[in-house]
Amino acid sequence: MSWERQITIKSPQEIEIMRQAGRINAEALVAAKSIARPGVTTADLNAAAEEVLRKYGVYSPFKGYPGPTPYPASTNVSVNEELVHGIPGKRKLKEGDIVSIDCGTVYEGFVGDSAISFGVGEISESARKLLEVTEAALYAGIAQMIVGNRVGDISAAVQQYVESRGYYVTREYTGHGVGREMHEGPQVPNYGQPGRGLLLRPGMTIALEPMVLIGTPMTRVMPDMWTVRSADGSLTAHFEHTVAITENGPTILTTLDDGQSAGRNAGVQL
Ligand code: MG
Ligand code: MG
Repeated sequence: MSWERQITIKSPQEIEIMRQAGRINAEALVAAKSIARPGVTTADLNAAAEEVLRKYGVYSPFKGYPGPTPYPASTNVSVNEELVHGIPGKRKLKEGDIVSIDCGTVYEGFVGDSAISFGVGEISESARKLLEVTEAALYAGIAQMIVGNRVGDISAAVQQYVESRGYYVTREYTGHGVGREMHEGPQVPNYGQPGRGLLLRPGMTIALEPMVLIGTPMTRVMPDMWTVRSADGSLTAHFEHTVAITENGPTILTTLDDGQSAGRNAGVQL
């Protein structure tokens, strides 16, 4: 059975465990972001995140993830035109870059999955706007994670938010259910139609992840077989949270203890 069809409902106790996974994941992202400055390599950011995971005795499900070659790191670090799945390495950050870090944490058998994008030093107005729109699109989607809504309501909210501001969402990579596996059903695209798709039920946990491009919806995979970049080389951004759907509304699980997000708009509350 393909992962898109494996939909699991979590108990409140399991959601609490996922919140712990998510909290550690947020701490790893904050640690990586905190060292980002010109001259630092993408491998350095990965190492900073890994140090947090090691402190808690947990690991990232990214490492060894099956693909054309097993994924070699605990995070994806994707710079500028790189949309997702960048392999951390020798690339040095420069003033004005925008960086996306995506990390996963397995804690007591459950996965937290989240990503942030941010600028290095002073960034251009267009880069700033892209980050703002991408993060806000994430929250627009999360606001639709209401019992009785459908997956299409989430997808359409993200798409409308992004496209009405003149940007593009990728059609090739999607959000997903998350639980004991990093990728479970349902698949949650960043485009869709309201009222369509799977009915949202309490106990579903979804990793929503708008991936936004300035110039094109088209992407290319680089020769390393993992890194995905915009086809036209234009800037891209990516934000992600793991969210539980509950009777009381959406609950973001990938936040720090004080409920703050690791993203730029830390403290956005629903
Ligand atoms: Mg992720
Ligand atoms: Mg994900």
